[in-house]
Amino acid sequence: MQLFGEHEQVVVCHDRDSGLRAIIAIHDTTLGPSLGGIRMWTYASDEAALTDVLRLSRGMTYKNAVAGLDLGGGKTVVIGDPRHDKRPEMFAALGGFIDTLGGRYLAAEDVGTSTADAVEVATRTRFVTGLPLERGGSGDPSPMTAWGVFCGMRAALAEAGLDGFGDVSVSVQGAGHVGAALARHLLAAGARVTVSDIYADRIAPLVELGADTCDPVEAHSLPVDVYAPCALGAVISPTTIDQLRCRVVAGAANNQLLDAEIGDELHRRGVVYAPDYVINAGGVINIAEELGRPYDAERARASVERIEQNLQNVFATARAEGIGPHRAADRVAEQRIAAARPTRWTVEAARRSG
Ligand code: NAD
Repeated sequence: MQLFGEHEQVVVCHDRDSGLRAIIAIHDTTLGPSLGGIRMWTYASDEAALTDVLRLSRGMTYKNAVAGLDLGGGKTVVIGDPRHDKRPEMFAALGGFIDTLGGRYLAAEDVGTSTADAVEVATRTRFVTGLPLERGGSGDPSPMTAWGVFCGMRAALAEAGLDGFGDVSVSVQGAGHVGAALARHLLAAGARVTVSDIYADRIAPLVELGADTCDPVEAHSLPVDVYAPCALGAVISPTTIDQLRCRVVAGAANNQLLDAEIGDELHRRGVVYAPDYVINAGGVINIAEELGRPYDAERARASVERIEQNLQNVFATARAEGIGPHRAADRVAEQRIAAARPTRWTVEAARRSG
């Protein structure tokens, strides 16, 4: 992937007083203002931080486009250890930098940051999303992400010739915010669920509801209909692919494929793959519901349910073009952006239309 050359704007932020060092990358605003989270991470070097923010912001362009949102892709990385280096003043300072972009970038929380950090950002800019419900924001995105994965899984099951969840078996790897909520939806729908996590206390409440458990290292190799990765990335690799015994891979984790070639191989082997950034878009769809109008949880839930249709479109494109769904998803995103270019979004046009 060519990193430079396609990003619209990259801003290096340094605030001496708070110690903030951050990079904001706006990849593409054709469809609308760029939206993406603020990631705080202990990067090995400034180059590593730059590579990450360029890659992540590009990913947000594709995710928002396939989700059908009028939003472009952006991202921020804050350089530092979220457990030891975090100070509220940093996020207030970051808010000041975000404000200078005039609405071309909308921030949200991400790995290493929380709603509390978003509240600090909001002291200096209105261009931040995911504030607590009591502040008019959409709050924790995880429940909507889980609901979206559940709805998307229905499309993936249909693509594999399975009808509904009754008697379908699913291995949910990772019982965190998203995985545990997904397991609950699956159990309620009559699926046979096996959950695994490195922490036993996360599994216990799900076992009480009827879930089985397994060693987390075996989660991908169980003989089940669906393997639902909800913990780590790169779980489909040359090592694991020979161990898969599922018909469908559909879960919340980001970057499930080690690379596009392993996705091609999965496709060749007849395993239905629900592209991660399509099926896990419930969080951003939920955030989009707080933009320009008061947030309404019921309306957001209905919007998140569109993920089933979005996946059906991706699978149809994959079938029509004889490619894997991971490549079809990219194509759907690129076609939507190309079609919107003649009437592309700008801050000025958005201001004129109120
Ligand atoms: P989380 O940290 O709450 O949960 C992850 C869980 O995975 C934890 O319980 C952890 O103990 C477990 N885990 C870690 N390593 C494991 C392993 N080797 N085997 C089994 N379990 C393991 O995170 P989350 O918010 O539930 O997100 C899960 C995944 O979904 C992440 O990849 C995240 O990037 C992605 N995602 C989350 C959201 C969201 O709204 N939270 C949105 C989009 C994508």
